[in-house]
Amino acid sequence: GTALAGRRAFVTGGSRGIGAAVAREGADVAITYAAARDAAEGVAGEIERLGRRALAIAADSRSAEALAAAIDRAAGAFGGIDILVNNAGIFAVGPVDALAIDDFDASLAINLRAPFVAVKAVLPHMGEGGRIIGIGSNLATQAPQPGLAAYAASKAGLAMMNRALARDLGPRGITVNTVHPGSTDTDMNPADGDHAPAQVARTALGRFGRPADVAAAVAYLAGPGATAVTGTSILVDNGANA
Ligand code: NDP
Repeated sequence: GTALAGRRAFVTGGSRGIGAAVAREGADVAITYAAARDAAEGVAGEIERLGRRALAIAADSRSAEALAAAIDRAAGAFGGIDILVNNAGIFAVGPVDALAIDDFDASLAINLRAPFVAVKAVLPHMGEGGRIIGIGSNLATQAPQPGLAAYAASKAGLAMMNRALARDLGPRGITVNTVHPGSTDTDMNPADGDHAPAQVARTALGRFGRPADVAAAVAYLAGPGATAVTGTSILVDNGANA
């Protein structure tokens, strides 16, 4: 859309899936990736061909130094950052006896600690009107099957952290919100995967989500219509949690 034209965004994990869809929403954008360099450069190149500024930066979210350096680099290139989208995430699942402590640590590091790191790093570059958006999960508020302890905890933590940050940053005119996707067709959760039919059956609308569904909610929160919205969450889950 045009609502985000000229705004400067930073999206973690923009090489594919939901993050790539968010990056395509219309702002100038820097995306990070952990490994998929070609895919990330492909997304950035596609956005540049539409006439917007785009950067693809290698930055593993597990490293606070790498993530902060990526944010500084993007802010330097764009002259500031207006929108931060903490999207990069991993889905480590398994029954508690099989789930390794390393899986728990990685879930917290990428899904929860990195968003905190990114907020700290972006603030020197973000002024009045800034928007911070986390990509949570509908599993942050419901655990409909076993195996979700690490993932659900990381996403519930992210949502509550963002509500708390809304209080810290409200006086600076910065909003902080969370978008909770439900089952969304990406490499993480393909619509033709073994577990997809059960996920569709759980929804009110009887459909699997698309990355663009989630990106539309992010664009709303990042855009001029959401000035009064902070400290809350939007579920984009086809009614799975209804
Ligand atoms: P994908 O696995 O399809 O893509 C993940 C993205 O995050 C990639 O760009 C990947 O980069 C990046 N990433 C992963 N680990 C790291 C890391 N350590 N450092 C930097 N970047 C990293 O996931 P989705 O698009 O499906 O998920 C995006 C977000 O949405 C996640 O937070 C996920 O938990 C959430 N979500 C997804 C749902 C779904 O059904 N798909 C449902 C609910 C929430 P690279 O390509 O280099 O690996």
